[in-house]
Amino acid sequence: MEKNKTKNLNEVKDEVKDEVKDEVKDTGTVALGIYAKSSTTYNDNVNASNPMPARLREVFHSYRIKRYSLLKTARKYLLNHAREVNAKTEELHKISRTINCKHAFAYEADCVKVDFNSKNAYYTGLQTCGSVWNCPVCSARITEVRRKEIAKAVEETYKLEYQAVMITFTFPHNNKMPLKETLRKQAEALKFFRSGNIWTCFKTKIKFLGLIRALEVTHGHNGWHPHTHELWFIDPKTKEKSFKAFILKRWIECLKKANLLSEDPSKAELEAVTKRSVDVKMNCKASDYLAKNDSAKNWGIDRELSKSANKGKAKGLHAFEFLAEDTPKNQKLYIEFVNAMKGKSQLFWSPRLKNLLKIDEISDADIAENEDEEEKLHENKVYFTQEFWDLILEKDYRAQILNRLESAENVSEEFWKIIKFLSD
Ligand SMILES: [Zn+2]
Repeated sequence: MEKNKTKNLNEVKDEVKDEVKDEVKDTGTVALGIYAKSSTTYNDNVNASNPMPARLREVFHSYRIKRYSLLKTARKYLLNHAREVNAKTEELHKISRTINCKHAFAYEADCVKVDFNSKNAYYTGLQTCGSVWNCPVCSARITEVRRKEIAKAVEETYKLEYQAVMITFTFPHNNKMPLKETLRKQAEALKFFRSGNIWTCFKTKIKFLGLIRALEVTHGHNGWHPHTHELWFIDPKTKEKSFKAFILKRWIECLKKANLLSEDPSKAELEAVTKRSVDVKMNCKASDYLAKNDSAKNWGIDRELSKSANKGKAKGLHAFEFLAEDTPKNQKLYIEFVNAMKGKSQLFWSPRLKNLLKIDEISDADIAENEDEEEKLHENKVYFTQEFWDLILEKDYRAQILNRLESAENVSEEFWKIIKFLSD
Protein backbone atom coordinates (compact mmCIF):
# COMPACT_ATOMS: atom_id res chain seq x y z
CA MET A 1 0.00 0.00 0.00
CA GLU A 2 1.39 3.32 -0.95
CA LYS A 3 1.49 5.85 1.81
CA ASN A 4 -0.86 8.70 1.10
CA LYS A 5 0.72 12.02 1.90
CA THR A 6 -2.52 13.92 1.69
CA LYS A 7 -3.52 15.75 4.82
CA ASN A 8 -7.15 15.53 5.68
CA LEU A 9 -9.15 18.19 7.41
CA ASN A 10 -8.75 16.70 10.86
CA GLU A 11 -5.00 16.60 10.53
CA VAL A 12 -4.94 20.20 9.42
CA LYS A 13 -7.19 21.07 12.35
CA ASP A 14 -4.94 19.25 14.82
CA GLU A 15 -1.87 20.89 13.40
CA VAL A 16 -3.39 24.33 13.70
CA LYS A 17 -4.65 23.57 17.21
CA ASP A 18 -1.12 22.65 18.30
CA GLU A 19 0.28 25.82 16.80
CA VAL A 20 -2.37 27.84 18.57
CA LYS A 21 -1.51 26.16 21.87
CA ASP A 22 2.14 27.09 21.40
CA GLU A 23 1.23 30.65 20.64
CA VAL A 24 -0.87 30.90 23.78
CA LYS A 25 2.05 29.61 25.79
CA ASP A 26 4.36 32.20 24.24
CA THR A 27 2.16 35.24 24.28
CA GLY A 28 -0.16 34.50 27.18
CA THR A 29 -3.15 35.45 25.08
CA VAL A 30 -6.35 33.45 25.17
CA ALA A 31 -6.84 31.85 21.80
CA LEU A 32 -10.32 31.36 20.57
CA GLY A 33 -9.57 28.30 18.47
CA ILE A 34 -13.09 28.13 17.17
CA TYR A 35 -14.92 29.65 14.30
CA ALA A 36 -18.09 31.06 15.77
CA LYS A 37 -17.14 34.54 16.77
CA SER A 38 -20.49 35.73 17.96
CA SER A 39 -20.38 39.08 19.67
CA THR A 40 -22.94 37.99 22.23
CA THR A 41 -20.96 35.01 23.44
CA TYR A 42 -17.30 35.41 22.73
CA ASN A 43 -16.72 39.11 22.84
CA ASP A 44 -14.46 38.95 25.87
CA ASN A 45 -12.28 36.18 24.53
CA VAL A 46 -12.00 37.07 20.90
CA ASN A 47 -8.55 37.95 19.82
CA ALA A 48 -9.22 39.04 16.31
CA SER A 49 -5.57 39.58 15.52
CA ASN A 50 -4.73 35.95 16.24
CA PRO A 51 -3.96 34.63 12.76
CA MET A 52 -4.17 30.92 13.56
CA PRO A 53 -7.88 30.50 14.18
CA ALA A 54 -8.40 32.60 11.08
CA ARG A 55 -6.30 30.21 9.03
CA LEU A 56 -8.13 27.21 10.43
CA ARG A 57 -11.42 28.86 9.72
CA GLU A 58 -10.37 29.60 6.19
CA VAL A 59 -9.51 25.94 5.51
CA PHE A 60 -12.74 24.76 7.07
CA HIS A 61 -14.76 27.28 5.10
CA SER A 62 -13.22 26.44 1.75
CA TYR A 63 -13.90 22.73 2.43
CA ARG A 64 -17.51 23.55 3.16
CA ILE A 65 -17.90 25.49 -0.09
CA LYS A 66 -16.43 22.54 -2.02
CA ARG A 67 -18.68 20.05 -0.28
CA TYR A 68 -21.86 21.96 -1.02
CA SER A 69 -20.74 22.41 -4.58
CA LEU A 70 -20.15 18.64 -4.91
CA LEU A 71 -23.56 18.01 -3.36
CA LYS A 72 -25.13 20.23 -5.99
CA THR A 73 -23.58 18.10 -8.74
CA ALA A 74 -24.73 14.93 -6.93
CA ARG A 75 -28.29 16.25 -7.02
CA LYS A 76 -27.96 17.01 -10.71
CA TYR A 77 -26.62 13.51 -11.54
CA LEU A 78 -29.31 11.85 -9.43
CA LEU A 79 -32.12 13.89 -10.98
CA ASN A 80 -30.84 13.03 -14.46
CA HIS A 81 -30.83 9.40 -13.45
CA ALA A 82 -34.36 9.70 -12.01
CA ARG A 83 -35.54 11.04 -15.38
CA GLU A 84 -33.83 8.19 -17.22
CA VAL A 85 -35.66 5.59 -15.16
CA ASN A 86 -38.93 7.58 -15.26
CA ALA A 87 -39.13 7.97 -11.50
CA LYS A 88 -42.05 10.05 -10.26
CA THR A 89 -41.42 13.07 -8.00
CA GLU A 90 -42.79 11.23 -4.96
CA GLU A 91 -40.37 8.38 -5.67
CA LEU A 92 -37.18 10.48 -5.69
CA HIS A 93 -36.23 9.42 -2.16
CA LYS A 94 -36.13 5.81 -3.43
CA ILE A 95 -33.46 6.80 -5.97
CA SER A 96 -31.51 8.52 -3.20
CA ARG A 97 -32.35 10.78 -0.28
CA THR A 98 -29.25 12.76 -1.25
CA ILE A 99 -31.31 14.46 -4.00
CA ASN A 100 -33.05 16.64 -1.42
CA CYS A 101 -30.31 16.72 1.21
CA LYS A 102 -29.76 20.27 2.57
CA HIS A 103 -32.00 21.42 -0.27
CA ALA A 104 -35.69 20.79 0.49
CA PHE A 105 -37.49 21.73 3.68
CA ALA A 106 -37.97 18.97 6.22
CA TYR A 107 -41.47 17.65 6.78
CA GLU A 108 -43.57 20.28 8.56
CA ALA A 109 -40.75 22.87 8.61
CA ASP A 110 -41.90 26.34 7.55
CA CYS A 111 -38.46 27.93 7.48
CA VAL A 112 -34.76 27.13 7.58
CA LYS A 113 -33.01 28.17 10.73
CA VAL A 114 -29.31 28.69 11.40
CA ASP A 115 -28.16 27.45 14.81
CA PHE A 116 -24.75 27.69 16.43
CA ASN A 117 -22.68 25.50 18.69
CA SER A 118 -19.20 26.34 19.95
CA LYS A 119 -17.63 25.37 16.62
CA ASN A 120 -20.11 25.70 13.83
CA ALA A 121 -23.15 27.31 12.39
CA TYR A 122 -25.54 24.77 10.87
CA TYR A 123 -28.97 24.54 9.29
CA THR A 124 -32.02 23.03 10.90
CA GLY A 125 -35.34 22.47 9.17
CA LEU A 126 -33.82 20.92 6.05
CA GLN A 127 -33.96 17.34 4.81
CA THR A 128 -30.75 15.47 5.57
CA CYS A 129 -29.77 12.24 3.77
CA GLY A 130 -27.28 10.78 6.26
CA SER A 131 -25.50 8.90 3.46
CA VAL A 132 -21.84 8.35 4.05
CA TRP A 133 -21.46 7.04 0.48
CA ASN A 134 -23.43 9.50 -1.62
CA CYS A 135 -23.30 12.80 0.19
CA PRO A 136 -20.17 14.95 0.56
CA VAL A 137 -21.85 17.07 3.25
CA CYS A 138 -23.29 14.29 5.46
CA SER A 139 -20.23 12.11 4.96
CA ALA A 140 -17.92 14.78 6.38
CA ARG A 141 -20.01 15.06 9.51
CA ILE A 142 -20.38 11.26 9.96
CA THR A 143 -16.67 10.62 9.40
CA GLU A 144 -15.77 13.17 12.05
CA VAL A 145 -17.79 11.26 14.68
CA ARG A 146 -16.69 7.79 13.52
CA ARG A 147 -13.03 8.76 13.72
CA LYS A 148 -13.46 9.67 17.37
CA GLU A 149 -15.16 6.33 18.07
CA ILE A 150 -12.32 4.39 16.45
CA ALA A 151 -9.68 6.37 18.33
CA LYS A 152 -11.49 5.64 21.60
CA ALA A 153 -11.83 1.94 20.73
CA VAL A 154 -8.08 1.62 20.16
CA GLU A 155 -7.35 3.42 23.41
CA GLU A 156 -9.70 1.15 25.38
CA THR A 157 -8.21 -1.95 23.72
CA TYR A 158 -4.75 -1.20 25.02
CA LYS A 159 -6.22 -0.51 28.48
CA LEU A 160 -7.67 -4.03 28.36
CA GLU A 161 -4.15 -5.25 27.48
CA TYR A 162 -4.92 -6.28 23.94
CA GLN A 163 -3.16 -5.04 20.84
CA ALA A 164 -4.70 -3.54 17.71
CA VAL A 165 -3.60 -4.98 14.38
CA MET A 166 -4.41 -3.33 11.08
CA ILE A 167 -5.10 -5.59 8.09
CA THR A 168 -5.91 -4.42 4.58
CA PHE A 169 -7.53 -6.96 2.26
CA THR A 170 -7.53 -6.38 -1.49
CA PHE A 171 -7.86 -8.60 -4.59
CA PRO A 172 -7.10 -8.55 -8.31
CA HIS A 173 -9.66 -6.59 -10.32
CA ASN A 174 -10.18 -5.26 -13.83
CA ASN A 175 -12.41 -2.76 -15.58
CA LYS A 176 -14.78 -5.42 -16.88
CA MET A 177 -16.03 -6.16 -13.38
CA PRO A 178 -19.26 -4.29 -12.44
CA LEU A 179 -19.09 -2.86 -8.92
CA LYS A 180 -22.20 -4.61 -7.66
CA GLU A 181 -20.90 -8.02 -8.60
CA THR A 182 -17.42 -7.34 -7.26
CA LEU A 183 -18.89 -6.24 -3.92
CA ARG A 184 -20.97 -9.40 -3.73
CA LYS A 185 -17.92 -11.59 -4.30
CA GLN A 186 -15.86 -9.58 -1.84
CA ALA A 187 -18.55 -10.01 0.85
CA GLU A 188 -18.52 -13.76 0.14
CA ALA A 189 -14.73 -13.95 0.51
CA LEU A 190 -14.91 -12.08 3.83
CA LYS A 191 -17.65 -14.42 5.03
CA PHE A 192 -15.63 -17.52 4.11
CA PHE A 193 -12.67 -16.06 5.96
CA ARG A 194 -14.56 -16.02 9.22
CA SER A 195 -16.35 -19.34 9.08
CA GLY A 196 -15.58 -22.95 9.95
CA ASN A 197 -13.39 -24.70 12.49
CA ILE A 198 -10.08 -23.36 11.27
CA TRP A 199 -11.22 -19.80 11.97
CA THR A 200 -12.70 -20.73 15.37
CA CYS A 201 -9.43 -22.36 16.45
CA PHE A 202 -7.36 -19.45 15.16
CA LYS A 203 -9.60 -16.99 16.97
CA THR A 204 -9.09 -18.77 20.27
CA LYS A 205 -5.34 -18.95 19.70
CA ILE A 206 -4.95 -15.21 19.17
CA LYS A 207 -7.55 -14.32 21.86
CA PHE A 208 -9.62 -12.46 19.27
CA LEU A 209 -11.71 -9.79 20.98
CA GLY A 210 -13.39 -8.44 17.84
CA LEU A 211 -12.80 -6.25 14.83
CA ILE A 212 -13.77 -3.02 13.13
CA ARG A 213 -13.97 -3.20 9.35
CA ALA A 214 -14.13 -0.22 7.02
CA LEU A 215 -15.18 -0.68 3.42
CA GLU A 216 -13.62 1.63 0.87
CA VAL A 217 -14.22 1.76 -2.87
CA THR A 218 -12.03 3.60 -5.34
CA HIS A 219 -11.96 3.61 -9.13
CA GLY A 220 -8.85 3.57 -11.30
CA HIS A 221 -7.39 2.26 -14.56
CA ASN A 222 -8.34 -1.27 -13.55
CA GLY A 223 -11.93 -0.38 -12.74
CA TRP A 224 -13.59 -0.57 -9.35
CA HIS A 225 -11.40 -1.40 -6.42
CA PRO A 226 -13.32 -2.31 -3.27
CA HIS A 227 -11.07 -3.10 -0.32
CA THR A 228 -11.35 -3.28 3.44
CA HIS A 229 -9.22 -1.90 6.22
CA GLU A 230 -9.72 -3.92 9.38
CA LEU A 231 -8.63 -3.43 12.95
CA TRP A 232 -8.36 -6.63 14.94
CA PHE A 233 -8.06 -6.61 18.69
CA ILE A 234 -5.96 -9.57 19.76
CA ASP A 235 -3.40 -11.01 22.19
CA PRO A 236 -0.31 -8.73 22.36
CA LYS A 237 1.89 -11.84 22.49
CA THR A 238 0.74 -13.04 19.04
CA LYS A 239 3.68 -14.15 16.90
CA GLU A 240 3.84 -11.83 13.91
CA LYS A 241 5.29 -14.22 11.32
CA SER A 242 2.85 -17.10 11.75
CA PHE A 243 -0.06 -14.66 12.15
CA LYS A 244 0.72 -13.00 8.83
CA ALA A 245 1.27 -16.34 7.09
CA PHE A 246 -2.10 -17.68 8.28
CA ILE A 247 -3.98 -14.61 7.12
CA LEU A 248 -2.42 -14.54 3.67
CA LYS A 249 -2.93 -18.27 3.05
CA ARG A 250 -6.56 -18.13 4.17
CA TRP A 251 -7.35 -14.96 2.18
CA ILE A 252 -6.01 -16.57 -1.01
CA GLU A 253 -8.22 -19.64 -0.37
CA CYS A 254 -11.22 -17.38 0.17
CA LEU A 255 -10.54 -15.43 -3.03
CA LYS A 256 -10.58 -18.70 -4.97
CA LYS A 257 -13.85 -19.78 -3.32
CA ALA A 258 -15.47 -16.43 -4.13
CA ASN A 259 -14.23 -16.50 -7.75
CA LEU A 260 -12.01 -13.49 -7.29
CA LEU A 261 -9.00 -15.62 -8.15
CA SER A 262 -8.92 -18.62 -10.48
CA GLU A 263 -8.76 -22.08 -8.89
CA ASP A 264 -5.41 -22.63 -10.54
CA PRO A 265 -3.68 -19.24 -10.83
CA SER A 266 -0.54 -18.76 -12.90
CA LYS A 267 2.77 -18.32 -11.11
CA ALA A 268 2.76 -14.59 -11.90
CA GLU A 269 -0.82 -14.18 -10.68
CA LEU A 270 -0.08 -15.98 -7.45
CA GLU A 271 3.05 -13.92 -6.91
CA ALA A 272 1.11 -10.70 -7.38
CA VAL A 273 -1.65 -11.76 -4.99
CA THR A 274 0.88 -12.91 -2.40
CA LYS A 275 2.67 -9.60 -2.64
CA ARG A 276 -0.30 -7.25 -2.72
CA SER A 277 -3.56 -8.68 -1.40
CA VAL A 278 -2.86 -8.51 2.33
CA ASP A 279 -1.10 -5.85 4.34
CA VAL A 280 -0.63 -6.36 8.09
CA LYS A 281 0.58 -3.90 10.69
CA MET A 282 0.96 -5.19 14.24
CA ASN A 283 0.71 -2.96 17.33
CA CYS A 284 -1.13 -0.29 15.50
CA LYS A 285 -1.99 3.17 16.82
CA ALA A 286 -5.33 4.82 16.15
CA SER A 287 -3.58 7.41 13.99
CA ASP A 288 -2.08 4.68 11.74
CA TYR A 289 -5.51 3.30 11.10
CA LEU A 290 -7.28 6.60 10.68
CA ALA A 291 -4.66 7.86 8.26
CA LYS A 292 -5.27 4.86 6.04
CA ASN A 293 -8.92 4.35 6.70
CA ASP A 294 -10.36 7.68 5.86
CA SER A 295 -12.31 8.09 2.72
CA ALA A 296 -11.85 11.84 3.00
CA LYS A 297 -8.18 11.49 2.17
CA ASN A 298 -9.14 10.40 -1.30
CA TRP A 299 -11.28 13.38 -2.03
CA GLY A 300 -10.29 15.67 -4.76
CA ILE A 301 -10.96 18.59 -2.47
CA ASP A 302 -8.46 17.44 0.12
CA ARG A 303 -5.86 16.85 -2.52
CA GLU A 304 -6.46 20.21 -4.02
CA LEU A 305 -6.43 22.11 -0.76
CA SER A 306 -3.41 20.41 0.67
CA LYS A 307 -1.61 20.66 -2.68
CA SER A 308 -0.63 17.07 -2.24
CA ALA A 309 2.18 15.46 -4.13
CA ASN A 310 -0.28 12.74 -5.05
CA LYS A 311 -2.14 14.97 -7.43
CA GLY A 312 -2.02 13.62 -10.94
CA LYS A 313 -0.69 10.24 -9.91
CA ALA A 314 -2.52 7.21 -11.20
CA LYS A 315 -4.24 6.57 -7.89
CA GLY A 316 -7.80 5.40 -7.52
CA LEU A 317 -10.47 8.05 -7.40
CA HIS A 318 -12.97 8.35 -4.60
CA ALA A 319 -16.64 8.57 -5.66
CA PHE A 320 -16.81 12.24 -4.63
CA GLU A 321 -14.19 13.00 -7.23
CA PHE A 322 -16.76 12.11 -9.90
CA LEU A 323 -18.69 15.10 -8.57
CA ALA A 324 -15.77 17.48 -8.87
CA GLU A 325 -15.90 17.44 -12.67
CA ASP A 326 -19.34 17.26 -14.25
CA THR A 327 -18.93 14.90 -17.23
CA PRO A 328 -21.18 12.13 -18.65
CA LYS A 329 -18.54 9.51 -17.76
CA ASN A 330 -18.33 10.74 -14.17
CA GLN A 331 -22.11 10.78 -13.91
CA LYS A 332 -22.31 7.18 -15.09
CA LEU A 333 -19.69 6.07 -12.57
CA TYR A 334 -21.27 7.98 -9.69
CA ILE A 335 -24.71 6.47 -10.41
CA GLU A 336 -23.24 2.98 -10.64
CA PHE A 337 -21.56 3.61 -7.30
CA VAL A 338 -24.74 4.94 -5.66
CA ASN A 339 -26.78 1.94 -6.83
CA ALA A 340 -24.14 -0.59 -5.83
CA MET A 341 -23.59 0.85 -2.35
CA LYS A 342 -27.29 0.84 -1.41
CA GLY A 343 -27.72 -0.84 1.98
CA LYS A 344 -23.97 -1.30 2.51
CA SER A 345 -22.42 -0.21 5.80
CA GLN A 346 -19.17 1.65 5.66
CA LEU A 347 -18.13 0.47 9.09
CA PHE A 348 -18.76 -2.91 10.66
CA TRP A 349 -18.06 -3.60 14.34
CA SER A 350 -18.12 -7.14 15.77
CA PRO A 351 -21.26 -7.72 17.83
CA ARG A 352 -20.90 -6.45 21.40
CA LEU A 353 -17.52 -4.83 20.66
CA LYS A 354 -18.85 -1.30 21.08
CA ASN A 355 -20.36 -2.23 24.39
CA LEU A 356 -17.11 -3.82 25.53
CA LEU A 357 -15.07 -0.76 24.55
CA LYS A 358 -17.61 1.68 26.00
CA ILE A 359 -18.69 3.26 22.70
CA ASP A 360 -22.28 4.47 22.35
CA GLU A 361 -24.42 3.21 19.48
CA ILE A 362 -25.51 5.99 17.14
CA SER A 363 -26.69 5.70 13.54
CA ASP A 364 -25.27 7.60 10.56
CA ALA A 365 -28.67 9.26 10.09
CA ASP A 366 -28.71 10.51 13.68
CA ILE A 367 -25.19 11.89 13.40
CA ALA A 368 -25.97 13.72 10.17
CA GLU A 369 -29.18 15.08 11.62
CA ASN A 370 -27.77 16.34 14.91
CA GLU A 371 -24.94 18.77 14.58
CA ASP A 372 -25.63 20.21 17.98
CA GLU A 373 -24.01 17.40 19.96
CA GLU A 374 -22.77 20.15 22.21
CA GLU A 375 -25.00 22.57 23.92
CA LYS A 376 -26.57 25.09 21.61
CA LEU A 377 -24.99 28.43 22.30
CA HIS A 378 -27.54 31.10 21.80
CA GLU A 379 -30.62 31.98 19.86
CA ASN A 380 -29.81 34.36 17.06
CA LYS A 381 -33.13 34.15 15.35
CA VAL A 382 -31.60 33.59 11.95
CA TYR A 383 -34.38 32.29 9.73
CA PHE A 384 -34.89 31.95 6.02
CA THR A 385 -38.36 31.59 4.54
CA GLN A 386 -38.94 29.44 1.46
CA GLU A 387 -38.75 32.55 -0.69
CA PHE A 388 -35.27 33.43 0.56
CA TRP A 389 -34.16 29.81 0.61
CA ASP A 390 -35.00 29.57 -3.09
CA LEU A 391 -32.78 32.59 -3.71
CA ILE A 392 -29.99 30.98 -1.71
CA LEU A 393 -30.25 27.81 -3.80
CA GLU A 394 -30.37 29.82 -6.99
CA LYS A 395 -27.21 31.72 -6.04
CA ASP A 396 -25.62 28.51 -4.78
CA TYR A 397 -24.91 30.24 -1.49
CA ARG A 398 -25.65 27.63 1.21
CA ALA A 399 -22.06 27.16 2.38
CA GLN A 400 -21.19 30.83 2.15
CA ILE A 401 -24.04 31.82 4.46
CA LEU A 402 -22.80 29.51 7.21
CA ASN A 403 -19.26 30.73 6.62
CA ARG A 404 -20.28 34.37 6.82
CA LEU A 405 -22.33 33.90 9.97
CA GLU A 406 -19.50 32.00 11.66
CA SER A 407 -17.01 34.74 10.88
CA ALA A 408 -19.34 37.59 11.77
CA GLU A 409 -18.54 39.92 14.64
CA ASN A 410 -22.24 40.59 14.91
CA VAL A 411 -24.53 37.84 13.71
CA SER A 412 -27.67 39.97 13.41
CA GLU A 413 -25.92 42.62 11.34
CA GLU A 414 -24.42 39.97 9.07
CA PHE A 415 -27.79 38.33 8.67
CA TRP A 416 -29.31 41.57 7.41
CA LYS A 417 -26.40 42.06 5.04
CA ILE A 418 -27.06 38.57 3.66
CA ILE A 419 -30.77 39.33 3.23
CA LYS A 420 -29.87 42.49 1.39
CA PHE A 421 -27.42 40.62 -0.84
CA LEU A 422 -30.05 38.02 -1.69
CA SER A 423 -32.70 40.60 -2.45
CA ASP A 424 -30.53 42.66 -4.78
ZN1 LIG B 1 -26.59 14.43 2.88
